[in-house]
Amino acid sequence: MSNFQVDKNGFYGEFGGAYVPEILYKCVHDLQEAYLPIIESEEFKAEYHALLKDYVGRPSPLYYAKRLSEKYGCQLYLKREDLNHTGAHKINNTIGQILLAKKMGKTRIICETGAGQHGVATATVCALMDMKCEVFMGATDVERQHTNVERMKMLGAKVNPVRTGNMTLSDACSAAIRDWCCHPSDTFYIVGSTMGPHPYPDLVARMQSVISEEIKWQLEEKIGRDYPDYLIACIGGGSNAAGTIYHYMNDDRVKIVLAEAGGAGYETNHTAATMHKGTVGILHGAKMLVMQNNDGQIEEAFTISAGLDYPGVGPMHCNMYKQGRTQVLSVNDDEAIYGGYELTRMEGIIPAIESAHAIAALSKLQFKPTDVVVLTVSGRGDKDVETYLKNKQMAKEYGNF
Ligand SMILES: *Cc1c(COP(=O)(O)O)cnc(C)c1O
Repeated sequence: MSNFQVDKNGFYGEFGGAYVPEILYKCVHDLQEAYLPIIESEEFKAEYHALLKDYVGRPSPLYYAKRLSEKYGCQLYLKREDLNHTGAHKINNTIGQILLAKKMGKTRIICETGAGQHGVATATVCALMDMKCEVFMGATDVERQHTNVERMKMLGAKVNPVRTGNMTLSDACSAAIRDWCCHPSDTFYIVGSTMGPHPYPDLVARMQSVISEEIKWQLEEKIGRDYPDYLIACIGGGSNAAGTIYHYMNDDRVKIVLAEAGGAGYETNHTAATMHKGTVGILHGAKMLVMQNNDGQIEEAFTISAGLDYPGVGPMHCNMYKQGRTQVLSVNDDEAIYGGYELTRMEGIIPAIESAHAIAALSKLQFKPTDVVVLTVSGRGDKDVETYLKNKQMAKEYGNF
């Protein structure tokens, strides 16, 4: 049986590793040594699961979507990460990492954010744990995601607009890494997705693995078997996808379908479809598939969805894709808008525009009526209502709402 887990050197096949400046060697090494003993300790698990239950509101429901099941000719269940506190799966990870930071004696938290969802989830747990918090966010995103900036400030975080490069997520990551270089001893960097130097991809995947842990017993309860025929999730850096598939990676009965952001189409330059377009390169401390030109310059990602707007994708997913374990579909902006309206009108659930990419993948697959499909709704769409309304026309060739 293949093993898609990280090896002891921090690699997933040819991907991953820890490519960091010398000044961070000790910091990253300390984290590599510390994370497993801490997160596998009974004390950590008890605190983490108590907070997931009473603060985040887990387990998140596994909901049978009757009308969409009929439409797509399958048995469709939605894993409702949109119902978590702060509105997405990101909080599963920030709760875990802040507990780890505390146990490692760190006193200051930094993070990067794009749309602001990870910034809000981090500022939230910093308020909860009484920790200093600084968020790095591209100046363009600070403008575009004003409400989330206000939420972070209200929660007590300092938001640092980043004015280098395209002034978006990728630049925010670089700025956070630079800050970390200046404060290696007291600062813990809470990374928001399955990216960054080892051990972050593995750490984040483990923190999100609660999603598939719950899917297992919830399916058992509902259908009398603990695995689906299909798992579907959207993918930016890869954390909600990693959580969704974690306990099924080596289970060949389960097909895995991931939806990346095609933007205007992966054949255009206006795209964030990293697995379709990317080539092997190093970005933010790890070897992965990145969109880059022939000189190795990182190319800007384009998509309607700020949360998928990243020119790379986590190493675990690069490896699984290269090994043929996952099917990756490129879902364009117009298809995602339609998917978001479809879930809204047919099930009464307004999804995050990121999650709408996963919904749109349904129409690209052929199911048998008995197929059990679990699709993760990674977040709620409150933040995206304006985007949906403004771009409704874009999706009209797929039908009318
Ligand atoms: C951040 C975000 C994503 C993308 O990040 P992953 O690490 O790929 O999961 C997807 N959906 C929502 C709602 C998000 O906030």
